[in-house]
Amino acid sequence: MKIDFKTKRDKLIAEGLCDHCLGRQFAKLGYGLENYERGAILRQNEEVSKKDFAKDNVPQDAELGGECYLCQGVFEKIESYVDLLSEALEPYQFNSLLVGVSLPQQIKEDEKELWANYGRQDAELLKSELNRLIGKRVLRKLSVGVDFERPDISPVINIENERVELQISPLLIYGKYNKYVRGVSQTKWFHDRSVKSVEEIVAQPAIEVAEAEGAKFHGAGREDIDVRCFGKREFVLELLRAKKRNLNLQELEERINNYQEQVEVFELKFAAKQKIKELKSKRVAKLYKALVKTSQEIDEDKLAKLKQLSGTIRQRTPQRVNHRRKDMVRKREIYKVQAELLTANKLELMIKAEAGAYIKELISSDDGRTEPSVAELLDCSAECERLDVIGIDN
Ligand SMILES: [Zn+2]
Repeated sequence: MKIDFKTKRDKLIAEGLCDHCLGRQFAKLGYGLENYERGAILRQNEEVSKKDFAKDNVPQDAELGGECYLCQGVFEKIESYVDLLSEALEPYQFNSLLVGVSLPQQIKEDEKELWANYGRQDAELLKSELNRLIGKRVLRKLSVGVDFERPDISPVINIENERVELQISPLLIYGKYNKYVRGVSQTKWFHDRSVKSVEEIVAQPAIEVAEAEGAKFHGAGREDIDVRCFGKREFVLELLRAKKRNLNLQELEERINNYQEQVEVFELKFAAKQKIKELKSKRVAKLYKALVKTSQEIDEDKLAKLKQLSGTIRQRTPQRVNHRRKDMVRKREIYKVQAELLTANKLELMIKAEAGAYIKELISSDDGRTEPSVAELLDCSAECERLDVIGIDN
């Protein structure tokens, strides 16, 4: 439906719109004006035309606020919304915000109907105007910048009940860890609370310092609970609803490391969201040290056969993990094997392997599922008694 500028202006004034709501229907006309200023120009000039939307034509008495059936007087309350928002944000540290409003259903419906009657070609949404007016004031009051992509906090004020909801971006901390004891799992064991985890050891001090409500731990791969790690494994700790974001990571590192002796962390720094994905998809070679017990006595000649482990091995999904991993045969590279006899039936192996190789099965053969294996080459049964990750090619 086409309606000319002058008729639209007259009819909208007859509708009883306030200056904000009137001006907003012409928001795309003129530069550097607020909608209430456009509204005041329209209202005070009977013979107004599109060319009149200019700063010089804004009447002296144009002012924020005003009430009408459409906005229900929300522009009168901007300062009180700003106060509510700053109050809700008071307990939090943040470096960027993206303020939003949630409008009552009635306002949205009335606006839709108005646009159906008078067209929407030059108009702006009430929500956008309110967002902008409130957002600008909150940012100025709290001296903080806007971030449309990834704000630390997105507070949303619900106009109907005047409540503020805070969407808080997780605070991500990247680091590396070593695990010096066996019996500590990487992530929390929900079915057995007595088992300690790297996750809890790292997260607990961080949660306290950041006054967070919880944490998630993302490791770059994992070692079994009975495997130690000296290779500095990468991780990202995700702190949820943290009140303090401007943490001193040097202090946090010391705090985590003084907290206990099982786990040590290194090189903590703040990270962006994509770091988690990056870690999850990273495939790096690892160096292992294994203590192996054999069912028969081994001599140096037999030991030399283990050189044949180098190269490509074929591993069918181990029996111990096939409840959670797809049953298939995977090819993995073994880059280097060094073997040393400790006693007649104990040897120490240094193995450098591609990411994803199962070392315990490389030793035992897992009933023939891994080929070749230490057991196969030595022609007896072989068991990994102790395993450590010595190095990670981060
Ligand atoms: Zn209004």
